[in-house]
Amino acid sequence: MLTAHLPSGYLLGRLAGHNRSNSPVLIAALIGAVLPDLDMLYFHFVDFGRTHHHMYISHWPLAWLALGLLTIAILQLVRAAMLRNIAMAFFGAALLHMCLDSVAAPIYWLMPLAQGRVELVSVPAHYSHWIISYALHWTFALELTIWLAAILLYARRKKIPIAS
Ligand SMILES: [Zn+2]
Repeated sequence: MLTAHLPSGYLLGRLAGHNRSNSPVLIAALIGAVLPDLDMLYFHFVDFGRTHHHMYISHWPLAWLALGLLTIAILQLVRAAMLRNIAMAFFGAALLHMCLDSVAAPIYWLMPLAQGRVELVSVPAHYSHWIISYALHWTFALELTIWLAAILLYARRKKIPIAS
């Protein structure tokens, strides 16, 4: 997924019932939805593009799941309900990121246990730049749908008229 991680986090936070834009749960969902792609800094400036960033631990769903379950269990034990809810939103959004990336790019769901990859649809390189191929592929409609849903939900909350 190229552009719709942030609105996917917004949708997750809103679907969890958090409507205020300063809700810690909503903010955690927004951060969790985009944080895995910060590995692009490492990809470009340290690894110099040698390894696909989906191979990094930051894109291993099992790593997010294990860390999330451990964090949530600890917060549950110490009865920190609000922090637990924030952690659930954060790690839930990170796992949503992995699901959305799996649509048109490889995600190694069982790393480090196994190297099998999940890529629901392979986008063929019909154009000179991969971004053009991706943006003109039918799977990009999913990104546009997520954006549209998030914008409509946001406009509805702010009571912004979309159409008369
Ligand atoms: Zn990603």
